[in-house]
Amino acid sequence: MNRSDVLIIGAGPTGLVLALWLSKLGIRVRILDKTAAPGTTSRALAVQARTLELYRQLDLADAVIHSGHRVAAANFWVKGEPVVHLPLNRVGEGLTPYAFLEMFPQDEHERLLIERLETFGILVERNTALESFEETSDGISARLRLPDGQEEICQACYLAGCDGARSIVRKTLDSGFPGGTYQQIFYVADVLASGPALNGELHVDLDEADFLAVFPMAHEGRARLIGTVRDERAQQADALQFADVSRQAIEHLKVKVEQVNWFSTYRVHHRVADHFRGGRAFLLGDAAHVHSPVGGQGMNTGIGDAINLAWKLAAVLSGGAEVQLLDTYETERIAFARKLVATTDRVFSFVTAEGRVADLLRTRLAPFLLPKVTAFETPREFLFRTVSQITVNYRGMPLSSGMAGHVHGGDRLPWAHDGEGDNFESLKCPTWQVHVYGDTSDEMIAWCNEHHLPLHVFDWRPAFDTAGLGRNGFYLLRPDTYVAIAETCSDPKVIERYFRDHGIRPFFTAH
Ligand SMILES: Cc1cc2nc3c(=O)[nH]c(=O)nc-3n(C[C@H](O)[C@H](O)[C@H](O)COP(=O)(O)OP(=O)(O)OC[C@H]3O[C@@H](n4cnc5c(N)ncnc54)[C@H](O)[C@@H]3O)c2cc1C
Repeated sequence: MNRSDVLIIGAGPTGLVLALWLSKLGIRVRILDKTAAPGTTSRALAVQARTLELYRQLDLADAVIHSGHRVAAANFWVKGEPVVHLPLNRVGEGLTPYAFLEMFPQDEHERLLIERLETFGILVERNTALESFEETSDGISARLRLPDGQEEICQACYLAGCDGARSIVRKTLDSGFPGGTYQQIFYVADVLASGPALNGELHVDLDEADFLAVFPMAHEGRARLIGTVRDERAQQADALQFADVSRQAIEHLKVKVEQVNWFSTYRVHHRVADHFRGGRAFLLGDAAHVHSPVGGQGMNTGIGDAINLAWKLAAVLSGGAEVQLLDTYETERIAFARKLVATTDRVFSFVTAEGRVADLLRTRLAPFLLPKVTAFETPREFLFRTVSQITVNYRGMPLSSGMAGHVHGGDRLPWAHDGEGDNFESLKCPTWQVHVYGDTSDEMIAWCNEHHLPLHVFDWRPAFDTAGLGRNGFYLLRPDTYVAIAETCSDPKVIERYFRDHGIRPFFTAH
């Protein structure tokens, strides 16, 4: 009988990232996908700054940046003219090492993750489908359909449902998937094209015609068009070809399409599963939440789910934590998913709303307000922080405690950077660790030594103050780099108590 620690269903970005992080943490995984081969279409393009920060833990960030495309600016068009130009090149400067908007097509992204997984000796089992599963006294028993049509009953300690929007894992857990479906049909087309909107920047048409956005891709002249299909054509969406979609918005943006590499239509849903966990089975990525592609959040959120769950599963499986730690996965990720779906819903409804008032808001008010609002650093920074997911936090949740400087327990550790280096270097290691900015006590040094807890003491510098970090005190960081404790004193008993209360023994965590 083949027993793995974690059986991962689905080798999309979520399942692949989960498999990678678990493998890095020494956990035996099995990952399978019912398809014969990885996807060949570009689908999700944006890789957000928070994902790149976390990708440093597996040395993936540079590879994504090397192969991807950095978007220099966003342009908003009305009546055939660009009316707003927002430079994006250094939009999040000072906030993250990845202060820009990166595009990297999902098919290439998945290939990169698969290659990395192979370096851990893990191959995705293709043409292999989960048909059903049940929880046993000490694990999961899953019925698989193998490529030769045979059935296999496989055992695992835990099961991760990364099996997309139509998740069989979610259905088996009997979790509701409340929300709705937008009336608009979307089309996506990867094209080779020319024209002013093919200058490597992002272009959005705000006109009353069909919504259209042009996303630049890595190669010159290659772009993704995303538009809506309205009126009677929407009734035959399945049979639609690129030639059938309205030319109005495409002409507004002066896009001359030379070749269509991929065309697809889809309906957008906005739904969040009632639960992200049922016993030993978990839901992640599109299996747990789906929403509009506005803001490029979907895939990044699935990746965030995977990294959140990976270290918790690894800790429990390696004896470094009590099983109660796994409860925090749903608490932390469902809260963010619900907020995200509500936000993308509002933005999506605005950009696609029909009617005179909506048209006036988009074509008159938005072009007037956008440059004014984004001329100021505060709203620009707010926008970047939100879209890049660097504000995702777990404040007020069970694993988060205290406040020091402007940083709360549950926050992402702020990036502090000056000529002397930055404070993110040690975060490449997915382990518990302590950061001190300024001075610490002998007791803290001795306690961390004794418990093999990495302690990084940075001499106080103005850059730490700018980033909002508190002087002296300490930050206990989780393996996924979120702040567990933000504390103004230097007493290691605070850490000891935290670990005891949460049933965590970090010195047992596999590295
Ligand atoms: C046409 C299209 C365009 C998109 N455009 C964008 C965009 O512009 N921006 C954006 O952010 N997002 C976009 N998305 C969404 C984005 O692709 C998803 O958010 C992302 O793929 C989610 O990753 P995932 O790993 O959670 O799920 P998926 O990528 O859906 O992966 C799930 C995997 O599970 C496998 N699977 C399912 N059931 C089983 C089973 N029973 N047994 C074994 N394997 C199984 C599937 O074969 C699949 O490979 C788009 C999606 C589509 C379809």
